[in-house]
Amino acid sequence: MSPTVYFVIPCYNEEEVLEETVKRLTEKLDSMRQQGLANEKSRMLLVNDGSKDRTWEIITRLHGENPYVEGVKLAHNRGHQNAVLCGLMTAMPLCDCAISLDADLQDDTDALDKFVAKYLEGCDVVYGVRNKRDTDTWFKRTTAEGYYKILHLLGVDVVFNHADYRLMSRRALEALSEYKEVNLFLRGIVPLIGYRSDYVYYDRHERFAGESKYPLKKMIALALDGITSFSVKPLKLISNFGILVSALSVFGLLYALISYFAGWAVSGWTAIVCSIWLLGGLQMLCLGVVGGYIGKIYSEVKARPRYRVEEFLRNPPKE
Ligand code: UDP
Ligand code: MG
Repeated sequence: MSPTVYFVIPCYNEEEVLEETVKRLTEKLDSMRQQGLANEKSRMLLVNDGSKDRTWEIITRLHGENPYVEGVKLAHNRGHQNAVLCGLMTAMPLCDCAISLDADLQDDTDALDKFVAKYLEGCDVVYGVRNKRDTDTWFKRTTAEGYYKILHLLGVDVVFNHADYRLMSRRALEALSEYKEVNLFLRGIVPLIGYRSDYVYYDRHERFAGESKYPLKKMIALALDGITSFSVKPLKLISNFGILVSALSVFGLLYALISYFAGWAVSGWTAIVCSIWLLGGLQMLCLGVVGGYIGKIYSEVKARPRYRVEEFLRNPPKE
């Protein structure tokens, strides 16, 4: 029996690309059905992430014209990660597996067949991994690769060169729904789920129309979420640094005392230098400890709703 496959596509101001994207994915779904990789209940779910342009109008129209198209409208712009999560959670009860991909089809759609083939072999999570990064600018490539390395050093388990192009089975989605964090970094959470997983390698294309909706500011915010939601090592580093400075202050102290007794120092200097070193170190140490507690509280109180669905356009299978 072929599975019900859902494509989950976050859309933010994507009026320029949507029609083409839907056209290509429709062809894809048709061909996957012929090959027995998807059944007639398979759909593409377009999540409108509070777009300011005509995106939702286009989705509504396409939903009327194309039996594969379903749409979810978020009440406001919640960002890429939340839009993907909303799409996955909406698809969860309706599908056997869901594949998240970007609206601009930068992620090679030829890989979609391979994702489902791996699912049929029994994988619950299939990660799309980029072969090479030559469509990226030098800046994006180096910062991205450096960032993955830093994440690894900080003990965060992420798949190298994997963005959010991935397949998840319904069982994996149900597991994902149990992770309630607000500072969402899906790439960090999905590996925590466990289950059998595999990789599919693909080439990433240029965006075929429109411009990136991920400016540097949003990229930095996502990168920081990746670190602070998954690692407390930075806090530990502060404490360790504090201990180091406190230890070094002993040498400062000795030097100051020697200067005093040797008669090199101006009077009063010794006391000031000693207190600066010692207090500086102690302060940093205390900050680290306080930070440790704040980090704990902060990870506990993440309980706000992560998105709000305003409208859901279904295309239920015909009986
Ligand atoms: N996106 C979104 N909400 C946002 C920003 C982006 O849903 O606030 C979507 C966007 O429509 C696209 C995907 O996230 O489908 C990736 O964005 P983009 O292609 O602009 O990023 P890039 O590929 O340049 O990193
Ligand atoms: Mg893109």
